[in-house]
Amino acid sequence: MPELPEVEVVRAGLAPAVTGATILGVEVFEHRSLRRHDPLAGDFEALLDGRVMQGPVRRGKFLWIPLEGAPRRAIVAHLGMSGQILLREPGTAEAGLLRIRLHIAHPVQGELWVHFVDQRIFGSMAVDALVPALDGAPGGLGTDEPLVPTQVSHIARDPLDPAFDAGGFAAALARKNTDIKRALLDQRLISGIGNIYADEALWAARIHYAQPANSLSRAKVRTLLAEVRHVLEKALAEGGTSFDAQYVNVNGASGYFAHSLNAYGRQGEACPRCGTPIVREQFMNRGSHFCPHCQRLRR
Ligand SMILES: [Zn+2]
Repeated sequence: MPELPEVEVVRAGLAPAVTGATILGVEVFEHRSLRRHDPLAGDFEALLDGRVMQGPVRRGKFLWIPLEGAPRRAIVAHLGMSGQILLREPGTAEAGLLRIRLHIAHPVQGELWVHFVDQRIFGSMAVDALVPALDGAPGGLGTDEPLVPTQVSHIARDPLDPAFDAGGFAAALARKNTDIKRALLDQRLISGIGNIYADEALWAARIHYAQPANSLSRAKVRTLLAEVRHVLEKALAEGGTSFDAQYVNVNGASGYFAHSLNAYGRQGEACPRCGTPIVREQFMNRGSHFCPHCQRLRR
């Protein structure tokens, strides 16, 4: 499942090809891939035809491409479980399950196809209105404009965003009598952290996944945030893991910079810090991986 580092790889890869490019045409091969598009806002294809794209923007694992002109709108791409956005030379046969194709013309790169490929149709594309960001800061990485799509307006900033409010996050945790891992996965509090990076950051910060959020000291919250940033930056530095053809078939840890993982998917293996076997427990319909020695539940 694509998480922040994987989506950032897509954003950075798209930027040189789509920024300033004109949309010449749109082909939708799978209408279920438009289920997050509100038809009352207008027809997907008609809203895009002839429009010029700005640089792609990311907040957490949400990706959007603002369109020039009024009213302000953006293409919002949800990658879901297996979505990919691929740049192709016109005429290239697509090996994956092609759902949407944009024909674009870039002033320097020339004509290109942008393919939205999605094995299982959990991902989608939509054209959405851009609305002011509540805190007035740039909407996400890749833009200076304080605008976000309405579909992203309830999503908190991610911890790599310069405008992320660390004090506000700590204050929100202090009010929450909920498991810290649940809070880390709550996109309204902090975005961009999925199961893998939550387990890794909690292991690094030596915090049990079920530790009540409001029992953590301010210092411990600072440590945790630092570890969250560290694990996300490490994954980014390693290329956001493999965003290639086999990526869509990846389940869980394989392909997710697996050689760098300390806890996630390591159940039964020795904790790299103390040697105690890592344990996996069921949590929120998924697994939580932790070291029972380093990450004790403190009540
Ligand atoms: Zn340990």
